[in-house]
Amino acid sequence: MAVDSVLSSPLGPPACEKDAKALQFIEEMTRNADSVQQRVLGEILARNAETEYLRRFKLDGATDKETFKSKIPMVTYEDLQPEIQRIANGDRSAILSAHPVSEFLTSSGTSAGERKLMPTIQEELDRRQLLYSLLMPVMNLFVPGLNEGKGLYFLFVKSETKTPGGLLARPVLTSYYKSDHFKTRKYDPYMVYTSPNEAILCPDSYQSMYTQMLCGLYERNQVLRLGAVFASGLLRAIRFLQLHWQQLAHDIRTGSLSPKITDPAIRNCMARMMSSDPELAEFVASECSKENWEGIISRIWPNTKYLDVIVTGAMAQYIPTLDYYSGGLPLACTMYASSECYFGLNLNPMCQPAEVSYTIMPNMAYFEFLPLDSSSSSGSTRDSLPKLVDLVDVEMGKEYELVITTYAGLYRYRVGDILRVTGFHNSAPQFHFVRRKNVLLSIDSDKTDEAELQRAVEDASDLLREYGASVVEYTSYADTKTIPGHYVIYWELMLKDPHNSPPDEALDRCCLAMEELLNSVYRQGRVADNSIGPLEIRVVKSGTFEELMDYAISRGASINQYKVPRCVSFTPIMELLDSRAVSTHFSPALPHWTPERRR
Ligand code: AMP
Repeated sequence: MAVDSVLSSPLGPPACEKDAKALQFIEEMTRNADSVQQRVLGEILARNAETEYLRRFKLDGATDKETFKSKIPMVTYEDLQPEIQRIANGDRSAILSAHPVSEFLTSSGTSAGERKLMPTIQEELDRRQLLYSLLMPVMNLFVPGLNEGKGLYFLFVKSETKTPGGLLARPVLTSYYKSDHFKTRKYDPYMVYTSPNEAILCPDSYQSMYTQMLCGLYERNQVLRLGAVFASGLLRAIRFLQLHWQQLAHDIRTGSLSPKITDPAIRNCMARMMSSDPELAEFVASECSKENWEGIISRIWPNTKYLDVIVTGAMAQYIPTLDYYSGGLPLACTMYASSECYFGLNLNPMCQPAEVSYTIMPNMAYFEFLPLDSSSSSGSTRDSLPKLVDLVDVEMGKEYELVITTYAGLYRYRVGDILRVTGFHNSAPQFHFVRRKNVLLSIDSDKTDEAELQRAVEDASDLLREYGASVVEYTSYADTKTIPGHYVIYWELMLKDPHNSPPDEALDRCCLAMEELLNSVYRQGRVADNSIGPLEIRVVKSGTFEELMDYAISRGASINQYKVPRCVSFTPIMELLDSRAVSTHFSPALPHWTPERRR
């Protein structure tokens, strides 16, 4: 039921008083986007005036936009690495931020093969919490009755390490789930989850997933929405069900937890909630044993109104598979965030995935935009003072790279995301996420760029030298039809002796060698998270890449400018490549990965 019209919002009638306040806040922020941005910049510069970084650029305590823009350069992570390394090594002086760095957030973006380390400060947790608190009030405008059931969300913590200076380094969601903001959150009827904290906080991904799935099955009729952070995570849960439903059904039938679940906190909490339910066990077994898993989500969780997963950006590749398993349930992308900063939310979360736009909340940080056409020429050095556009001045239809200045001490930092303006809510622009710069392949949170792939192919193919073979051309493909998805690399070989190909075993080793050469987020996905499957090499017939060029030229490509695409996804090209495949090889083992040591 809608609350008093005094509290009503232009976004729609709020579901409850708390929602009314949240919607009001969104209105205020977006209506006054420019003044909020000036205030945010002023606050960031005033509190950090004495930091080594701002003093270096002779800001002399100025907090106005003009001085800031004329003195502070736009930077990349690599530019800040010396400062970040000093903080990691234990230098507690005010280098970037006047507030003490509370921990490092490990981004899925990498630098030299390792996760980027983002310094953060304690109060950023409040800012993230604030953005989270706006999501349900918006969702409640579109989907009524979410307080009458629960959400089945597959949420996980990942491993954490310490820097030499003793600061924790962990992913932003791990930091959030382990915080009191999450662990001791107040009861909110609109945000009741089936997964107990004990399961979410268990660092063993198998035990965590098993328990979350089991709880989701027990409460199948209460589940109104199903989610994970990214689409890949939700599909991994479905795959998990495919592999483990027998054990899950057994546990439900007997009311006792599998002995593989050894985490004492989980065992304790499950002992309280499990009971024997033969009817449910029979239902789970009968649904899961069916050959056809189409629509399985709606069959097992019949009251699901939508799937809450990010399917924008690289995750769009999973939409057809999600549609298949859910029988076409709506997909809601609710927010846009990163380790550096949480950016904004989708004010129309039930729209089609292709229509998703995120409204950047002007209170989260100071946002600037590098017009895309100038981003390549402007370089990334500290000397560059490009023309950056303010949040309220971006133009409809144009593409920009996002540049942020945060309370935690990043100044004019290039996030690496390309966004297109699709509209405005009040004076705050709304953006379509176009792509992440330089990402060629991505299955889960891994981001592999062209240079990394090139190096991996070059080095791995050295193993073929003793067989008189070399790789003359290659391309790649993110195969998301398998769960988990995996990288496929097409190789065309040149053989000294055309009748003597390298043995299968050598090509298998090349697969593993490539994996060893990919970044640590990829290897963590392979080893710890099981979110990426073994890398595959498909050897194609000699002459295949020439055919690929002929095909591109027949479709209008210029013969002079033709470059072999290093990643492909267009169906006719895939069909051509696959029809020329002469052998397939998979990585025979897991690559090496340990939680990163921080020098
Ligand atoms: P991380 O710092 O590892 O959390 O990764 C943050 C990055 O993930 C962002 O900079 C985006 O490239 C991507 N990302 C986050 N949210 C979304 C979204 N809603 N849609 C598309 N990409 C996203």
